[in-house]
Amino acid sequence: MANIIDGKALSKETRQHVKEEVSRLEKEHGKTPHLVVVLVGEDPASQSYVRGKERACKRAGIRSTKIEKDASISEEALLNLVNELNSDPEVHGILVQLPLPAHIDSNRVIETIAQKKDVDGFHPLNIAALQIGTKGVLPATPKGIMTMLNSIDIDLQGKKALVIGRSNIVGKPIAHLLLKNHATVTMAHSRTNDLAWEAKQADVIIAAAGKAKMVTGDMIKEGAVVIDVGVNRVDDKLIGDVDFDSAEKKASYITPVPGGVGPMTITSLLQNTVECFKHIENI
Ligand code: NAD
Repeated sequence: MANIIDGKALSKETRQHVKEEVSRLEKEHGKTPHLVVVLVGEDPASQSYVRGKERACKRAGIRSTKIEKDASISEEALLNLVNELNSDPEVHGILVQLPLPAHIDSNRVIETIAQKKDVDGFHPLNIAALQIGTKGVLPATPKGIMTMLNSIDIDLQGKKALVIGRSNIVGKPIAHLLLKNHATVTMAHSRTNDLAWEAKQADVIIAAAGKAKMVTGDMIKEGAVVIDVGVNRVDDKLIGDVDFDSAEKKASYITPVPGGVGPMTITSLLQNTVECFKHIENI
């Protein structure tokens, strides 16, 4: 039976550290990290994510401001807003909640956010920093996954890691982080020929395809570490990409859904906000 990597508990502990650091920074420097979240339109899922981020900031002592804009806002007006926030010395982190309405080019918006305020780590310069191994802001979900792997003291050197999914926000960046930690990384995607075979070779599996229960116990090597990033709504329940019941019989460690990677993503956002604050304030 696998050990559970409890994302909720690890998040609680990590957020407590963030809170203590924010309070120390306030005492020593008289300033508070400030995150601005821009929400365009009224997508209920986006509204709920933003509420979660605001709540987490508040609890950690991070100042947060939500700017809501109508879905009809022009791309130019949104870019102007981002530029204003870029030059506002009181703002340390900028997050534009995705997805944006179809008439707005998300890439242009992301590229306009100042690299040093890009708490999501989606700016091309932050992506480049990750690829060449220099200092930048890491995207929140992959960063949270690494915090989970570090929490179990796994030595990734020489381990075979399989990343399922090649998105820019999860698959590609986590593959780079695993590489950086000397794992031998394979990336699988929708056109991979034999996913079951690839999975069977892996000491570490990161499942981020968005396909409910696609990784089953029979695909997992005995003792593998299984990180389930997937969040799929099935019959009003949240289900991961891993079939937990069969997988936990084979894995040495496994993350649940919900209560696994999800909470770690917001935790990483808090950490990124504090890092951006320190960088901007030269601390
Ligand atoms: P995406 O939808 O952008 O891309 C999915 C990827 O999976 C693609 O690269 C595709 O090639 C691959 N894929 C699809 N079907 C496959 C198959 N049958 N076999 C192998 N690969 C396949 O994905 P994303 O935005 O990275 O999200 C992936 C999942 O992770 C989703 O369920 C999403 O909700 C979840 N997610 C969770 C968090 C979190 O904080 N918990 C954060 C981001 C994403």
